[in-house]
Amino acid sequence: MPAHDFDLIALGAGSGGVRAARLAAQAGRRVAVVEQGRVGGTCVMRGCVPKKLLVVGAGFADDLADSLGFGWSLEGAGFDWARLVAAKNAELNRLEGVYRRLLHDSGVTLIEGWGELADAHTVTVGARSYTADTILIATGGRPALPAVPGIEHAVTSDEALDLMQLPERVVIVGGGYIAVEFAGIFNALGARVTQAVRGETVLRGFDDDVRATLAEAMVARGVDLRAGTEVRSIGRHGHGYDVLLSSGETVEADLVLYATGRVPNTAGLGLERAGVAVNAKGAVVVDGCSRTTAGNIWAVGDVTDRIKLTPVAIAEAMAFVNTAIHGLATTMSYDAIPSAVFSLPPIGTVGLAEAEARRRHGEVDVYLSRVRPLRNVLAGRDEHTMIKLVVERRSGRVLGVHMVGADAPEIIQGFAVALKCGATKAQFDATVGIHPTIAEELVTMRERRPS
Ligand code: FAD
Ligand code: NDP
Repeated sequence: MPAHDFDLIALGAGSGGVRAARLAAQAGRRVAVVEQGRVGGTCVMRGCVPKKLLVVGAGFADDLADSLGFGWSLEGAGFDWARLVAAKNAELNRLEGVYRRLLHDSGVTLIEGWGELADAHTVTVGARSYTADTILIATGGRPALPAVPGIEHAVTSDEALDLMQLPERVVIVGGGYIAVEFAGIFNALGARVTQAVRGETVLRGFDDDVRATLAEAMVARGVDLRAGTEVRSIGRHGHGYDVLLSSGETVEADLVLYATGRVPNTAGLGLERAGVAVNAKGAVVVDGCSRTTAGNIWAVGDVTDRIKLTPVAIAEAMAFVNTAIHGLATTMSYDAIPSAVFSLPPIGTVGLAEAEARRRHGEVDVYLSRVRPLRNVLAGRDEHTMIKLVVERRSGRVLGVHMVGADAPEIIQGFAVALKCGATKAQFDATVGIHPTIAEELVTMRERRPS
């Protein structure tokens, strides 16, 4: 008789929990996953997937407008927000079914409800208790809301993905990934968007040329971007809201969206009963292999507050399975993790921002190009794509590749392989371009930016 009910219990059926559970079950382990909400977690149900569907939907506004310059006419074209949301929801239902089936077909037991630790080997869900040799905490995170008077009137990305109506006037607070992505969606679909950013511009931590290029493009597209601006209060006003800004101005809105970061889901998990330590931000403390301070308990994904991206949660889950299930100590590499921001226009980036590269590597060379895509010429769109390489002067190694413009996320994925392989600028130069594309700029830039 085995000592425990399961070999592994994963808390949370999101990106990290599902991958770990399936891999462990496929390796012959007896696995359960506990989920209190929809199977698939944040990425599939309230994050990457629904967001991207709305971005694609909103992006057709550009396509339609640009097509006029290519001989199309658009009499009768219209947009129906409710139909987009319904189509998106139908796809989420289909995907939830796929995730449930994947777990079932791998032999994973799905336990639905809120799970918490009673001790280092016991998880309780409602009135039931389940024991396991190994426990994985993969409970993700949730939106953080600051204490501002009237904050109860604001929504987060969770609700913004499910609005019944497209708002006419939106105030977005924050300058991070979620804020700029929703600014792009609402602005492209015709809403009047005011975005309040407390810093000097959007996307702190990104390369400064990326930040400036995106901010400029967003403003040119009609987003009213307020830098150095905080919200003092939100009050009801008729059917909408009055948002009082630190500048003293009041902006009227039908929707106030806060995208001010996310916090780890560690409250109410009984971590203290199992000896699992959390840090000052409430994130589970883990070592390089994702092991917590309790030897048989591990944690991956957003709950550990490392890099909050789906492919990272999945990679951490795979490293966990290698280490804890197969006995092959595996640490995850956080170098050159590419990421995309699905703003309009979008961003693709991998490696170091110029300022960070200078701090870490001393002298760097910068190659920067701004190109107006062929499409924009006939479309009469003045927007330029920005492409930037940051190169270590001493070795010629490419340290960062950054792009703002159409298809940047798709293009940068391939260049992430090159960076992972330690490619040099000379190797970029030796690569033949594909013409006519914007991506060819990445291998044809020869002029260093004067330092
Ligand atoms: P999650 O996916 O959050 O899964 C955690 C699961 O645990 C949830 O289903 C939750 O219900 C469950 N849970 C929590 N507590 C308990 C409990 N006590 N008992 C049982 N179940 C519990 N990343 C990208 O890479 N690309 C993107 O384009 C992108 N877009 C995003 C857009 C938005 C709006 C948001 C919010 C996030 C986005 N992300 C994106 C981030 C990505 O969604 C997360 O990094 C990823 O989902 C983290 O996976 P996880 O497994 O750590 O947690
Ligand atoms: P981010 O950390 O990206 O951005 C948070 C923003 O809110 C920052 O601009 C921050 O300003 C601001 N902020 C924080 N606190 C306050 C406050 N009290 N008042 C005003 N502004 C405040 O978080 P998001 O919520 O946008 O997204 C969470 C995470 O989800 C991201 O970091 C990312 O990892 C992931 N994600 C990934 C996506 C993708 O891959 N495309 C898309 C969406 C989310 P400051 O910079 O000054 O601190």
